[in-house]
Amino acid sequence: MRLGHRPERDQRVTTHVGLLSRALGAKGMYLVGQDTGIVRSITRVVEQWGGDFFIEDKVKWRRCIEEWKRSGGKVVHLTMYGLPVRQHEAEIRQADKILVIVGAEKVPGEVYGLSDWNISVTNQPHSEIASLAVLLDRLFEGSELSLDFPGAKIRVVPCGNGKQAESL
Ligand code: SAM
Repeated sequence: MRLGHRPERDQRVTTHVGLLSRALGAKGMYLVGQDTGIVRSITRVVEQWGGDFFIEDKVKWRRCIEEWKRSGGKVVHLTMYGLPVRQHEAEIRQADKILVIVGAEKVPGEVYGLSDWNISVTNQPHSEIASLAVLLDRLFEGSELSLDFPGAKIRVVPCGNGKQAESL
């Protein structure tokens, strides 16, 4: 869940939150607020590069969190003020489904109480994209680096020098 998106200044970072989440194995993204441009660009990436990542905007954060928890999901809020990720990753990994919340600017105080874990990736200020990348990598233990994306129309052929891609 991307919270606090400001369409006039967060478009690039919010798009990257979506791209990164998809690339590292998340199922989808709830965008609090409305931004049809971001929905369109993520949807286009999914059509081209495969997988079934969803993006939903106009999400009401409180209702979304409550429904998530009611359906048995757990909630991780990423914040520099939280508990160290290394101390809690094993117990977080036990959850059947996890909603990860990242902010843009200040996150409403209520989010800290509604979350099952407030987790930090160091206690230094940095970025929602970076903290999400580290969390997903620690939860998936590296397996997310070799995912398949079924239904792709295009695929990169990894090479040591230059760029190669193939149409499927
Ligand atoms: N000053 C804001 C605050 O007090 O919440 C932080 C803004 S920061 C640019 C945007 C988001 O990045 C935060 O809401 C949080 O999700 C994430 N973030 C930044 N540093 C983090 C850290 N060290 N650990 C975990 N998440 C972090």
